[in-house]
Amino acid sequence: MEIKKVMVIGAGQMGGGIAQVCAQAGYDVKLNDIKEESFARGYAVIGKNVARNVEKGRMTEEEKGEVLARITKSLDLQDASDVDIIIEAAVENMDIKKSIFKQLDEIAPAHAILATNTSSLPITEIAAVTKRPGKVIGMHYMNPVPVMKLVEIIRGLATEDAVYDAVEEMTRKLSKTPVEVNDFPGFVANRVLMPMINEAIFTLYEGVASKEAIDEVMKLGMNHPMGPLQLADFIGLDTCLYIMETLYEGFGDSKYRPCPLLRKYVNAGWLGKKSGRGFYEYA
Ligand code: NAD
Repeated sequence: MEIKKVMVIGAGQMGGGIAQVCAQAGYDVKLNDIKEESFARGYAVIGKNVARNVEKGRMTEEEKGEVLARITKSLDLQDASDVDIIIEAAVENMDIKKSIFKQLDEIAPAHAILATNTSSLPITEIAAVTKRPGKVIGMHYMNPVPVMKLVEIIRGLATEDAVYDAVEEMTRKLSKTPVEVNDFPGFVANRVLMPMINEAIFTLYEGVASKEAIDEVMKLGMNHPMGPLQLADFIGLDTCLYIMETLYEGFGDSKYRPCPLLRKYVNAGWLGKKSGRGFYEYA
């Protein structure tokens, strides 16, 4: 099963990064979003990232042009009709993902793999809305995609071995390291990370320490490169809340209940770096 043509759904922080690394590895990429402005924003970020690669001597001006030329705009899911893999990175919402996968199942060629970059939603449940559950898989990149080496590859209950192997091979071609994980809420990365972030938000909520102090403790004390509250801002507070709700519902265990302060910030539209304000303010 050879992968040549790629489609990425969602041109946000993750989808833009995924499109960039795929184009850098030589794949032709269709980058899809529902909104023209969202595509334009995502494409502009890719442009800035590759320009920085040229400044730092990691890429020539000519290579930059080739990478950008490999990424084409898509505003219509019908464009999935001739690709080998679709990597979905739209918002973390089960209804939206199910609707996208249902449509892709009708449009994409029979051999095409349907992958999702979901942070925590069950792959098996997404796969069940398609007539090809064996070809559905989780391909969970880390943020920022061009920098982070890990890709968690999540097998749904029905994922075929050949599909797993093809996705693992593609991950290596992107110069990333695949790690195999089974389909349980939060997989490994967010099962471990998100309760820590949620607990950091509880310590702020309960007045145990200031946001700066909480982040400083985790940076200096645990050698984390970034404090948990700053990391939450970078991930997006809406995404953090959605993942906590997925863990809470998936395990039915109160230890995963989202902190009320997290919910309050999301309701206020304070979504972190992407909205200009979260626990910190961003210019
Ligand atoms: P984001 O809000 O930055 O981007 C989402 C994009 O999807 C937006 O441009 C939006 O217009 C687009 N979109 C929404 N509905 C769509 C549809 N029906 N069709 C096409 N495009 C649509 O979000 P993000 O941070 O890039 O997260 C995307 C996915 O990646 C989520 O599932 C998230 O859980 C996952 N993820 C996020 C992170 C992170 O650190 N932010 C890390 C790993 C995985």
